[in-house]
This record gives sequence, structure tokens and C-alpha cells, in this order.
Amino acid sequence: MKLAADPNTREVIVVGGGIAGLSAAIYLGRAQRDVLVIDSGHSMAKWEPVVQNYLGFPNGVGGEELLKNGRIQAKRYEARLIRDEIKSVSARKSIFVLKGKRKTYRTKRLLIATGIFHLPPEIPGVKQCLGHSMFFCKDCDGYRVRRKRIAIIGASNEAVEYALDMLHYSACVIVATNGKRAHWDKQHGRWLKEYEIPVARKRIRDVDHRKRKIRALKFASGPGVKIDYLFTTRGDIFHNQLAKKLGAKLDSDGQIKVDHCMRTSVPRLYAAGCVTPANCQMIIAAGQGAAAAQAINRDLFEESLASHSLRRFRDEQLESEKTVPEVERPKSKARRR
Ligand SMILES: Cc1cc2nc3c(=O)[nH]c(=O)nc-3n(C[C@H](O)[C@H](O)[C@H](O)COP(=O)(O)OP(=O)(O)OC[C@H]3O[C@@H](n4cnc5c(N)ncnc54)[C@H](O)[C@@H]3O)c2cc1C
Repeated sequence: MKLAADPNTREVIVVGGGIAGLSAAIYLGRAQRDVLVIDSGHSMAKWEPVVQNYLGFPNGVGGEELLKNGRIQAKRYEARLIRDEIKSVSARKSIFVLKGKRKTYRTKRLLIATGIFHLPPEIPGVKQCLGHSMFFCKDCDGYRVRRKRIAIIGASNEAVEYALDMLHYSACVIVATNGKRAHWDKQHGRWLKEYEIPVARKRIRDVDHRKRKIRALKFASGPGVKIDYLFTTRGDIFHNQLAKKLGAKLDSDGQIKVDHCMRTSVPRLYAAGCVTPANCQMIIAAGQGAAAAQAINRDLFEESLASHSLRRFRDEQLESEKTVPEVERPKSKARRR
């Protein structure tokens, strides 16, 4: 038996069924909450063929497989999952109304777990190599490119620091500005010289690759350069539109600001995963989803005490279920002689 709910209004809707959203759904389902996950099906986790840094998988696990198992696990605890894309949201009194491509939804609590999109460089040949030999993240992929030939695409301080940090993994690191004017500051320019990191300044015409493995960068003119792996620092697009529409505070990059329990600046609205200022890692997204779910569960519990809905739930229990355990009677002792 679950706490009686308005059939037209969910207790919790999670927008985004990636790593953070599914983790939240598992917790909320197990907390006996009426939870619906609405997902448009573009989790970034799909791009990773072998996740090596997720706890509990010593031989790695495919991102797709992690998502599939997450969905099975969430359904096991009665979370409902639906494919739709939410296009707009509004707050009416204490209810959020979400308009999707397929349907309209209403909920008391809303968790935004919509993730981000890493912008790949606009260079022919790059897209085919995403997740295989073209990467966005040192923490995810630095280890797997040890002792290989690595190019960092970028012309900013961030690109320089990226290259310097990659020295931990490989001696063969270059920066490729792809024809852009370098806008790193003097200090970063000095570091490039001091650490003897080559800079390729020409426009990259395309990436030579075979079976998703990069072989070389080809420039608009002159000889190319042989590399094995490419990293980029082009930036991210944060899927923050729904939170923004509801008036949630964002930081200067567009990440949704949250407290340590994943509450946003808007009451009853929560956010988790890469759309928040967390470092964009699967295990962090999963942890944030769990933390958000715990906060939502706690807030709904407090609300049920204040509104007496827990009392009404108790009345139903008292009417229809056994609510007092049987008394255990002492066994009669054998008659003494
Ligand atoms: C190539 C690549 C390799 C990576 N490798 C690793 C790795 O090895 N290790 C690691 O820890 N991390 C890795 N990551 C990062 C990892 O994928 C993310 O940290 C993780 O997926 C973030 O989880 P999330 O739930 O925040 O977002 P996501 O998993 O991206 O999920 C967001 C979900 O929200 C949905 N959504 C968005 N907007 C809407 C809407 N309006 N309505 C409905 N649904 C919506 C999307 O379709 C998506 O399914 C990698 C990322 C990439 C791109």
C-alpha cells in the first residue's frame, strides 16, 4: 500500500533518464514514492564503450549497459519510465506542469537531471571517433591514453593547462589551435615554452581515422602530424532551460546552482548530474541523483505530516490491514512432578 496520491499529479517527476535520473528513480521507487522518469533518450553515457572508472566493474562496463541495467533496476522498484521530451514547464501554486511532445504531466516535486552536451570540434572525421579516440575528459580517459601521442585542440588557458596535465599520462602531447588565434595569457604561453609542448597553429582540414581510431591530423597546408588520441576543450551546452524557465539560479557557465542536498533556489525543484556544477562523471551523477532523491523523500515526508495526508494514509491502513502484531503466548510448561 502506498500513500494515496492524486491520480493526475505525481509525487515526483524526474526529467532525464540518464545516470543521475535513474539513480534517483531507484531511490525514490525504494522509498515507495510515486515516481515517473521522462527521458528523451540521449544520455551521454551512451557514447562510452567501456567505462573504466565506475566502482564495482574491474573490467569496465559499457555506458549503454549501465543505462539498461539502471532502467531494469528502477522498474523493479516500481518507478515508471516514459520516452518523451519536455518542451516547457510552469509552476501553478504548488504543482509543476510539464508539457512534453507527447503529453502533459503534473507533479509535486520536480528533479531536473537533463545533463549537458559536450561540443565536439567541427572538424571532418571527429564525430566518428567520439568515445573511441576523441575524448572530452582527462579524468575519464587520461589513463587509457598513457604513453600515446595526444593532441589537445584549443587556443585558451584551459587548453594549455589540459596539455600540461596530460604530461602525467604521456610525454608526447601537442596543442593544436585549429587556425584560431591563441588567446592564452602570458603565463600560459611561458608554461608552453618552459615545458616544451609543441603548438600546431594551422587550420585542421580533417582527421585521418580508421575503424574509429585516429591516425593523424591533416592541416590545410603542409604535412600532417601522427597522433593516436584527440582531446578538446571547446565547451559544453547545459540543458538548463526548464530550470531557467522556473527562475532557478544558474552560475556564469549556465549550470544550475544547488545546495548539498541538490535543492535549487526554487522551492520543490531539485537538480542533479552534469547540469549542476558537479564534475561531469558518472559516479558523481549517480551519487547526486541519490542525494536528490533522499532530499525529495524527506521533504515529501515532512509535507505529509504538515498536511495530515500521512494521517489519512494511516486511517486507510487501520481500516484495511492488520496493524498490530499478534501477542506471543508463553508455551505451557510441562507439568511438574
Ligand atoms: C564520449 C563520452 C565519454 C564519457 N566517458 C565517461 C567515463 O568513462 N566515465 C565517466 O564517469 N563519465 C564519462 N562521461 C560522462 C558521463 O556520460 C556523464 O557524466 C553522465 O552521463 C552524466 O549523467 P547525467 O544523468 O547528468 O546526464 P546524462 O546521462 O547525459 O542524461 C541526461 C538525460 O536527460 C535527457 N533529457 C535532456 N533534456 C530532456 C528533456 N527536455 N526532456 C526529457 N529528457 C531530457 C537526455 O536525453 C538524457 O537521457 C563520458 C561522456 C562522453 C560524452
